[in-house]
Amino acid sequence: MIDEELVRCRPCGYVMKESDLGDVCPACGLPRSVFEPYREKVSPKRLLILSLDIHPIAIHLSQTFVALIPLLIIFQMIFPDFYTTVVTSVINFSIFVLPLTLVLSFISGLLDGVTRFKTLRTPLLKSKIIFSSMVLVLGFGMWGTVLSGQSIWVTLIVSILALACAVKLGLLGKHLIDVILPGTYVRRKKKPTKYAPKAKAEGEVKPKINAAPKPKAENAEKPKAKSKDAQEE
Ligand SMILES: [Zn+2]
Repeated sequence: MIDEELVRCRPCGYVMKESDLGDVCPACGLPRSVFEPYREKVSPKRLLILSLDIHPIAIHLSQTFVALIPLLIIFQMIFPDFYTTVVTSVINFSIFVLPLTLVLSFISGLLDGVTRFKTLRTPLLKSKIIFSSMVLVLGFGMWGTVLSGQSIWVTLIVSILALACAVKLGLLGKHLIDVILPGTYVRRKKKPTKYAPKAKAEGEVKPKINAAPKPKAENAEKPKAKSKDAQEE
């Protein structure tokens, strides 16, 4: 993705490799004439870190266990005779693995946040750090309840609290998925034309894609007006 020429659908913002572009935008279906050359606004190094998706992967792992633990405990309370040893093993395994995945999520989250926003001090990121710290504590707390032989009810309560924090974190993170990365913006000096201005700084982007546009006046014009970039100062 990094070394390829990228193009972006102006109306819907879909970004893809130029070489993969067919006759229409795969996301919104408008003709390829609405595409413009696109250059990632962040440095290749930042992009590389973000493109590894360590944080989302780690989160999915930990979410699995966070949800599984209270559900299995409740299940076992309702059906105590259903494969008791197996279910107990799965619960214990999940409780053992959870804090490890939480640590991975936490560290990758810090890395991701710093890479993405160049700071961790924004209100949203602070909330995420507070809630993820709580999940971490609760995750290790579950270890504690098992190791110290507490009643399963204590483990259940701790696991439900952890799940609640995880849900809150998911809701916080949801809003961050579509944010535009702060970087070296390529501002448009003139009124945007059908051809995007040449990108400056790190590597030129040739407006190859529009070299021979198939003009579909109506389709191409309307969305252009809506283009977010076009309205930027
Ligand atoms: Zn599109």
